[in-house]
Amino acid sequence: MSARHDVVIVGGGLVGASLAIALDRLGRDVALIEATPLGDVPAVFDERNLSFAAATVNALTALGVMQRLRNPTGAIQRIHVSRAGDFGRVLLSAQDYGRSEFGQVVVARDFGMALEDALADCRHLTRYRPAKFLDLAAAGSGERVLRVGTVEGEVELTTPLLVGADGSNSMVRGALGIGAERHDYGQRLFVARVRTSRAPDGTAWERFGNDGPTALLPRGDRHHGLIHGVPEAQAEAVAALDEAAWLAHAQAAFGWRAGRFLASGPRSAYPIIKVLAERLIAPRAVLMGNAAQSIHPLGAQGFNLGLRDALTLAELIVEHDDPGSDALLADYLRRRQPDRERTLRFSDGLARLTSNDAPLLRPLRSAGLLAAGQLQSVQSMLVGGAMGFAGDVPALCREAAP
Ligand SMILES: Cc1cc2nc3c(=O)[nH]c(=O)nc-3n(C[C@H](O)[C@H](O)[C@H](O)COP(=O)(O)OP(=O)(O)OC[C@H]3O[C@@H](n4cnc5c(N)ncnc54)[C@H](O)[C@@H]3O)c2cc1C
Repeated sequence: MSARHDVVIVGGGLVGASLAIALDRLGRDVALIEATPLGDVPAVFDERNLSFAAATVNALTALGVMQRLRNPTGAIQRIHVSRAGDFGRVLLSAQDYGRSEFGQVVVARDFGMALEDALADCRHLTRYRPAKFLDLAAAGSGERVLRVGTVEGEVELTTPLLVGADGSNSMVRGALGIGAERHDYGQRLFVARVRTSRAPDGTAWERFGNDGPTALLPRGDRHHGLIHGVPEAQAEAVAALDEAAWLAHAQAAFGWRAGRFLASGPRSAYPIIKVLAERLIAPRAVLMGNAAQSIHPLGAQGFNLGLRDALTLAELIVEHDDPGSDALLADYLRRRQPDRERTLRFSDGLARLTSNDAPLLRPLRSAGLLAAGQLQSVQSMLVGGAMGFAGDVPALCREAAP
């Protein structure tokens, strides 16, 4: 079997699904290829807590996705950053920037179901699912031809624009011959829902310890989302802790600012590896989301950045007749590179502040945090990152839908 589509998106995760919804509004004939069987959301929509920047909330509201969430979201009104063992701290309040909130906390599973609802209403979208991108075939026409494995057998798809949104280990990236730089932070990140004696009050807490970062996010269900990083060498021991010991361990790392840790939901764990594609485009192809850059989750920027990738591409497709032309891809690169570089600097900077303790660096890190409390430029970087409005952002991010 074979078919042709204006755009073929490989990967129906957070970014690929969002792009498919955005392109459907433009009436484009789009195919979305996702390996996960119908009836379940892809595994990436798990219990992780996602911080959506205000710009992301605006865009997902305009796309009609936020309205489909089934559970309440948690507003982030303040960000508090501190380091164990020193007095420096940064407290940012959205009010000081003329806003009611920096963003919202959404549980990934809930978001996956909302996206699924929105995808089901798309009128111009063809979904291949379960279907797996296998390889690129030689193209005589100048367009991209890809081989896709489905339960009915192999399908050959032709398109003027192939989008690789297939995550960190992107097969599309490999098939395009684009290399990737990898960096293993040597950390494992544990994520769980915790009940604390003080209910969330709109503060997102980031605490840097000698062994790694601990953050508490204000969820909408009167729980906090706990994120706790440990050196890889300690990961098995932390995974083996029973609930009481796990709560005591996390409490010791975080402190008492949110009261006593009372109960924890199941823990999920993630190795932290940065993967950066060496190029974002190839003839008639573009990489986005984690396929283009998988970054340290601590800055909570991965999806926010990937959504801006997707919405920028959708805007350019409106402006250009040929969705995969060299001119469009050059415009894409010009618009996306500054945001990508800024966000990578931001998340690398945070990761460095939290990395495993090197005694000689420790005073510098404390000084860095104190300086962050004073320096306008560092604060505006934190705020710009948190809200997602810095630079040339897509129009849908700018204004909340009426
Ligand atoms: C613990 C944790 C917390 C995080 N918190 C935040 C946060 O607060 N804010 C934020 O913005 N980001 C956060 N992130 C990052 C965010 O999860 C990622 O940026 C996001 O998942 C990237 O989406 P994606 O669609 O590019 O890739 P993915 O979500 O990985 O999706 C890729 C999709 O492609 C499919 N696929 C793969 N290979 C194939 C193939 N060959 N054929 C067909 N389909 C295929 C997969 O099944 C999957 O559905 C966090 C990440 C972690 C690990």
